[in-house]
Amino acid sequence: MVVENNIIIEALWVLLEQVPDPEIPVLSILDLGIVRDVQMHGEQIEIIITPTYSGCPAMDAISMDIRLKLIENGFKDVKITSILSPAWTTDWMTQEGKIKLKKYGIAPPKMSGNSSDSSPVCPQCSSADTKLLSQFGSTACKALYQCNDCKEPFDYFKCH
Ligand SMILES: [Zn+2]
Repeated sequence: MVVENNIIIEALWVLLEQVPDPEIPVLSILDLGIVRDVQMHGEQIEIIITPTYSGCPAMDAISMDIRLKLIENGFKDVKITSILSPAWTTDWMTQEGKIKLKKYGIAPPKMSGNSSDSSPVCPQCSSADTKLLSQFGSTACKALYQCNDCKEPFDYFKCH
């Protein structure tokens, strides 16, 4: 029974990898690092997630997408639990996720330990000579920067 559960939990992780972030569809929710645990309680599946930040409207969409994905695949009884502590940080984003972000044209977050006053690197030309245009980019989770070399504006995924 325990072995069987492990196989199901493996399959659940594979399904979760197919759930995209609603704001940045190139990233899966696993790339974001918000899925903390997957548990089985008899027939019930419990998915434990930590929101990227409290009040992010994308989180409701993510919960619904997880539920739909699992129901589509025959898991009828799905419980989504949000835990707020420890708080999500951009350090939980996978390396692969950061590479996907950069290819998508968004400067990936730096490790939160680094000095916060240095500007992000331009995702277009990799120049470090960039300037902040606005604290809020296309969504509240991002800031809008412009590259001083190629002049392209770009979103920066803020550290928090
Ligand atoms: Zn540039």
